[in-house]
Amino acid sequence: MRLEGIHHITAITADAQRNVDFYAGVMGLRLVKKTVNQDNPSVYHLFFADEKGSPGSDLTFFEFPGVPPGRAGAGDVHRVVWRVGSGDSLDFWEKRLGVNGIESERAEGSLRFSDPEGLDHELLVAAVDDEPLIADHPEVPAELALRGFHAVRAYSAAPDASRGLFEALALEPAGEGWEARGEQRGGLYLYDEPPAEPALQGAGSVHHVAWASKIDEHTEWRERAIAAGAQPTPVIDRFYFRSIYFREPSGVLFEIATLGPGFTVDEPLEHLGEKLSLPPDYEHLRAEVEPKLRPVKDLSR
Ligand code: ZN
Repeated sequence: MRLEGIHHITAITADAQRNVDFYAGVMGLRLVKKTVNQDNPSVYHLFFADEKGSPGSDLTFFEFPGVPPGRAGAGDVHRVVWRVGSGDSLDFWEKRLGVNGIESERAEGSLRFSDPEGLDHELLVAAVDDEPLIADHPEVPAELALRGFHAVRAYSAAPDASRGLFEALALEPAGEGWEARGEQRGGLYLYDEPPAEPALQGAGSVHHVAWASKIDEHTEWRERAIAAGAQPTPVIDRFYFRSIYFREPSGVLFEIATLGPGFTVDEPLEHLGEKLSLPPDYEHLRAEVEPKLRPVKDLSR
């Protein structure tokens, strides 16, 4: 039994439309679901991914309008690492980001930058055989596009404290951290020394990282996490997938989410993300919440 890499990464934005303009408009991801935060249905939960809304490519945001910028510290994921296919891709993104007012820093095989709210990203030329998870965008050639997640980097003052839990979750030691390598995909969880200043959650902060589970193995992962000393929530039905949540000893919030049923459960593939989707248990709130949400739209396609 193995986790199938990163399922999704969830962060915080202060401005949903600016967020859509950047991730769909500039980065070329597809807005695959526009819904509400199920724990606070008065705010948006936006999902950006490849064309099919696949786990492994899914960056999501809770919108808290006007929230001040956050600051990553110990116990936070502080960088999202994406796969790209070549040095040509890095050239393309260096130029495209620059045209859109985003400075980037080139290193051997990688390009680093921050989104307009300070969330750090790295594009990495990664030699892995996993299926590239690509979105169609009129200005981004498919061979240069983002290909899904490679890793997240987190700040931990005591990374060894997490060893027992990660062994229970069948992660393998890899470089400065651990790898979840399943049958279909792999993803890395890498540690860095934390900065001196404490973490402050806000715009541009990562809220949690979710690891992918096969549907029939989900409850077993929960049992294993409990046996290793973690305190997972009960299984929560998020409608698009089922989830458990717990903090790993470094303080980072983990989720384990199922590979399905997925985003086509309530709208067809060709129209993903166009309308406000509310899971059945939230549909009765539509008349109340929809008028209060500022409309957002992907204007790039
Ligand atoms: Zn999540």
